[in-house]
Amino acid sequence: MATLESRPPPPKKSLGQNFLVDTRVRARILAAADLAPDDVVLEIGSGRGFLTRGLAERVGRVVAIEIDGELTQRLSDAFDEEPRVTVVEADAREVDIDTLVPVGKPYKLVANLPYYAASPIIRRFLEAEHKPRVMVVMLQREVARTMCAIPGKMSILSVATQVYGKPRVVCSVPPRAFKPQPKITSSVVRIDVYDEPIVPMDPPEKFFAVVRAGFSTPRKQIRNSLAVGLGIPPTESEVMLFEAGIDPRRRAQTLTIDEWSSLLTSAVHV
Ligand code: SAM
Repeated sequence: MATLESRPPPPKKSLGQNFLVDTRVRARILAAADLAPDDVVLEIGSGRGFLTRGLAERVGRVVAIEIDGELTQRLSDAFDEEPRVTVVEADAREVDIDTLVPVGKPYKLVANLPYYAASPIIRRFLEAEHKPRVMVVMLQREVARTMCAIPGKMSILSVATQVYGKPRVVCSVPPRAFKPQPKITSSVVRIDVYDEPIVPMDPPEKFFAVVRAGFSTPRKQIRNSLAVGLGIPPTESEVMLFEAGIDPRRRAQTLTIDEWSSLLTSAVHV
């Protein structure tokens, strides 16, 4: 039987296996999640179990998802006698959340995410019907900064994060905190997820079509990028912007979430 003490398989670069080895960083992640004994935590990418062990010491239930069958097997064996921990072999981008956490049960998501799939995994859980209340995730520093950007520096990712929750950077983490060391710096981000998105998105595709159009030529005035992105004359995009109370000469990155929301209301073309 494999245990965490026996020699682990070599890290697979293709799965983003940069394992956390720094106990201080682990403590920052665990503290940022404000864990309570009755919390249910979903961990994504449990790897060799470094974070899983810290979670299991603090909360009543940990469901750890890992895509790598070899690591899943080792971790299941290691937590064999620990009923609070369940290890599931699955791809976090498509796993059925309701099979992991009972419908309606609040949960937190904690993860040191693989760089290659960090954005799709976060998007998946933010957009899900059964969302976590809180997400504490480690990911590439640049992506973290973009998610948390303020008007003036916004992008599609900032909008797509901030309609679903309030993100903040907890700390940045140097490559030496991992084994093997990545080439880039990471950040821990906490997102306090709203029960419902703050923009009434019915359907979300329409909202994101407007946002994508707005950012289609981000250096241009929003009047022009909306026209290009939506395939309408600039005179029409100008009317939309006036109706939403937005100066058509501004650039997409300066708009607040509320302004995107108003623009959605005036967008009859999408
Ligand atoms: N939690 C461990 C730690 O902190 O040391 C491992 C973190 S490592 C950066 C990312 C982990 O996610 C790896 O174990 C990798 O195999 C796993 N992984 C990669 N892609 C995944 C996916 N799509 N779904 C679930 N796990 C994935």
